[in-house]
Amino acid sequence: MINQDIAIMFDTMADIMEIRGENPFRINSYRKVATILRDMPEDIGDFAGSHPIEKIPGIGKSSAAKIREYLETGQMSDYQKRLKSVPPGALKLLEIPDVGPKTIARLIDEKGITDMTSLEEAIEKGRLEGMPGIGAKTIQKMKKGIAFVKSYKGRILLGEAMPAAKEIIAALKEHAGLKQLEVAGSLRRGRETIGDVDILAAETDTNEPTNESLPCSRSDQPDHEKARRGRHIIKTFTRLPMCAETLAEGDTKGSIRTKSGMQVDLRVVPKESFGAALQYFTGSKEHNVKLRSLAAERGLKINEYGVFRGEEKIAGKDEESIYASLDLPFIPPQLREDRGEVEAAGADELPKLIEQEHIKGDLHAHCTFSDGAMTVEEMAHAAAKIGYRYVAITDHSKNLTVAGGIDEDELKERNELIDRVNAETDGFSVLKGTEVDILKDGSLDYADSVLEELDWVIASIHDHFNMSESRMTERIIYAIRNPHVDCIGHLTGRLLNRREPYPVTVHEIIEACSEHNTALELNAHPERLDINDITCREAKKAGIMVAIGTDAHTAAQYGLMRFGITTARRGWLGPGDILNAKPCGFFLQGHDA
Ligand SMILES: [Zn+2]
Ligand SMILES: [Zn+2]
Repeated sequence: MINQDIAIMFDTMADIMEIRGENPFRINSYRKVATILRDMPEDIGDFAGSHPIEKIPGIGKSSAAKIREYLETGQMSDYQKRLKSVPPGALKLLEIPDVGPKTIARLIDEKGITDMTSLEEAIEKGRLEGMPGIGAKTIQKMKKGIAFVKSYKGRILLGEAMPAAKEIIAALKEHAGLKQLEVAGSLRRGRETIGDVDILAAETDTNEPTNESLPCSRSDQPDHEKARRGRHIIKTFTRLPMCAETLAEGDTKGSIRTKSGMQVDLRVVPKESFGAALQYFTGSKEHNVKLRSLAAERGLKINEYGVFRGEEKIAGKDEESIYASLDLPFIPPQLREDRGEVEAAGADELPKLIEQEHIKGDLHAHCTFSDGAMTVEEMAHAAAKIGYRYVAITDHSKNLTVAGGIDEDELKERNELIDRVNAETDGFSVLKGTEVDILKDGSLDYADSVLEELDWVIASIHDHFNMSESRMTERIIYAIRNPHVDCIGHLTGRLLNRREPYPVTVHEIIEACSEHNTALELNAHPERLDINDITCREAKKAGIMVAIGTDAHTAAQYGLMRFGITTARRGWLGPGDILNAKPCGFFLQGHDA
């Protein structure tokens, strides 16, 4: 948790520096420190006890000093000082898409804007009119942006919610003596953002001892005993260290808000109906409606307690039994959106979905040559350690100066280093890759003769987002036509909760990919998950391969693969649809001779 606290401080400092127009490289380095801290498996306090913090790749001397100051004193003076330099509500304005930090600085300094509300008011009253450089079009964009920010208010990223839910489940297992605990709701279905976290627990048997006794009145009556145990579980839940506020506390249901602002609900259900409850609370609503009508056709009733024929309960202990009672195979949670999965299950045509064990490598990673925190060797060793057969190092190209994009000479130098690393390793390969910028006119940031030397070419858009849909689509299709481009990176450029996708005509892109045998990336970073589940499925229908890449800037981010896999599963993708389920030789063809 302390890693997260310090990461937030570095991110906030970077936000403020952006508003104040400071050096972009320094801003980037603060962001990098935040990422590194978030991804560190161990507590930075423990780490600092036995190692110098500046030994962590990507953390420089001055950042290390700030972290040490915080660890020792609970304060970070630079952070406090910077915080005072902008109105507290102004940082939120950075979330408005299309409103840059420079504009925000002017809104603060020239118009006294302090937060979202005062900005809305100023727009409403026409107070921004006449500001040089801020025309009617920009004001219109601001209004749209504010509506966008409001629309996701309270939505949490899959990548934040899942680790938090797992932490709570582990704590409940430890402290409440519970064995059967599962995440339910849209989080279990793997949606890219979720409203709140639902957790289900099966109550322990009355003859199993609980870990602590509570000061409740004891009774020999089993119902009272049951209620007492339920209360004990809920009390343990609301007293967990991550709980900031208790919203509800009953015998079978509790609700908390965590320190990071998530609402988490815990329900305690009888063991014998755990499967029915899990199925019911996983949803989706539409999926469950379909199941209920199937049940009705068979003269059955289905609810959160089980499947019933008249008074007789015929299923409910586990989810498999619920589906089996309707003559259906188990339907994986990620498919339960009423997008044809019930019909496919009925016809025994459910797809075989991709799993972590199918993944043989990561196709999107950065090293220190561009803006990654680790060297080629470090990235390679870490990938081999998790059982991968390859990793593609895909540094940025020279156009992207702010992210350390590299020119042709540096690329050559990096490729030679990769050759040396490969010569020393058995059974594992580093692919020479690039994430080359697609320039404004659709041409690429490296010449064909440079791209030809590489094993794996991702082409991505990193600037000029404000183009019309048709021009943006043309720009990308132009890149797809280049025979050296293997894959289009993060197709829509969206950053969940932060930046809307730029407009592209997806079906035209898919057509072009199909014609030129180009893959689409599923960027597994939880802020991106781009392409999304719907586009994954469209790609599959068109026979286009999908490459899941984590966009790792440090080895710990290889773990983000799981969010890409979840999204791919929601898109009905199986191992045959995923490029990085293929062996390494697939990528080396033509380069290895
Ligand atoms: Zn990128
Ligand atoms: Zn990248």
